[in-house]
Amino acid sequence: MTDFDVIVVGGGPAGCIAAYESAKAGLKTIILEKDRDIGYPVRCAEAIGEDGLRKFMETDPQWVAATIKYAQLHSPEGTAIRLDLPIENGLILHRRLFDFALAQRAAEAGSEVQTKAYVDGLIISDDQVKGVNYQYFGEKRSLTAKIVIGADGVESRVGRMAGLRTALKLSDTGSGYQVSVANVDVEQDVIDFYFGSKLAPSGYLWIFPKGEGMANIGLGVVGKGVKDVLAKDLLDKFLADRFPKAAVLTAVAGGIPLAKTLKKISTNGLMLIGDAARMANPVSGGGIISGMVAGRIAGQVAAEAIRTGDLSEKGLKAFPARWHKEVGRDYAIAHRISNSIRDVTDDQFNKMARELKDLPPEKLHIRKVFATAAKHKPKILLDITRAFAHL
Ligand SMILES: Cc1cc2nc3c(=O)[nH]c(=O)nc-3n(C[C@H](O)[C@H](O)[C@H](O)COP(=O)(O)OP(=O)(O)OC[C@H]3O[C@@H](n4cnc5c(N)ncnc54)[C@H](O)[C@@H]3O)c2cc1C
Repeated sequence: MTDFDVIVVGGGPAGCIAAYESAKAGLKTIILEKDRDIGYPVRCAEAIGEDGLRKFMETDPQWVAATIKYAQLHSPEGTAIRLDLPIENGLILHRRLFDFALAQRAAEAGSEVQTKAYVDGLIISDDQVKGVNYQYFGEKRSLTAKIVIGADGVESRVGRMAGLRTALKLSDTGSGYQVSVANVDVEQDVIDFYFGSKLAPSGYLWIFPKGEGMANIGLGVVGKGVKDVLAKDLLDKFLADRFPKAAVLTAVAGGIPLAKTLKKISTNGLMLIGDAARMANPVSGGGIISGMVAGRIAGQVAAEAIRTGDLSEKGLKAFPARWHKEVGRDYAIAHRISNSIRDVTDDQFNKMARELKDLPPEKLHIRKVFATAAKHKPKILLDITRAFAHL
């Protein structure tokens, strides 16, 4: 007998969907979340594609701050290229409300939720994860379970505690700094990306609208070459130059895994999902929807394993197999491409933008951008070809 069938550590999007699936399958489930509130603090630029979301639920206008139709790319010398989004709609969420709604959905399916519950150890015996130790409002507690799902984000300790190798290479670690600002005049249906070695070396700067007069403005840098560069300093300079009247309402900093999925994402009695397993898109750093996909698979696989009674790594083998088939394989390709994109020089960006800017709007789409990139930087094409050949 165990206290729960499934314990989910972490109440982000990945964890909430895993708990929802597990509870929906009739399993006794609990989410343990270390923070006081589900969904807060927000460490995210809050952008997702509506078509990705639709695989899980209908959009509730309450959590949508802006609906995006265009992406605008800015070269280092200032040429702007506006593209139709290659997806149905982009959404900028109010993640605080979104994550909260996901937890509510898990609870309605039957999952328990505890906040202020910080997991600081795993119960492991006979080489099998059998539960967690945690602090609840500072009080030490333990719970046993048939399966533990680690959804504890980029700084995950659960994976390491279970003996999985979770270390991120410096070259695969993005450092992000973002402010939510008021008093800025930005178009509400456009997301802007700025590139260039001075502005955002080996990364990009983004402006995502968040309702009239509001925006998330952030910057991510990556790799060995930027170890002495602070994302905050670069962003402060951009804000002072471009939005001197902006009022900063919140500021967040965080690591962004831009890696391939960990080699091993499950062990006896445990599965690791979302940022904890390095499942974000290595090109964009976006990990909300991919985390939800992993959460769904993990919740379903937990139900299958408990039904068959095989809780070993072998009994959970459908989890890595399905993850790699649905997303991981594509992200392995994306990882390779992201490494090439980081090497594009200012000069190459400028040349590409000048060439694209003269095209009529109907010819300007994301495939054309890639084709132009491949022309100016053949390594990108080579890497894409190699990546496909490899797989
Ligand atoms: C600056 C920045 C901008 C980003 N912008 C975007 C974007 O626009 N679009 C996008 O798709 N992605 C974006 N991301 C990435 C996105 O935020 C993550 O990929 C996503 O939140 C991952 O979901 P998750 O559920 O795996 O982890 P998280 O959302 O990080 O949730 C993990 C949860 O686990 C909890 N937790 C951690 N340790 C413990 C513990 N020991 N015990 C109990 N609970 C614990 C945490 O408090 C947290 O609530 C951004 C990231 C950053 C840093």
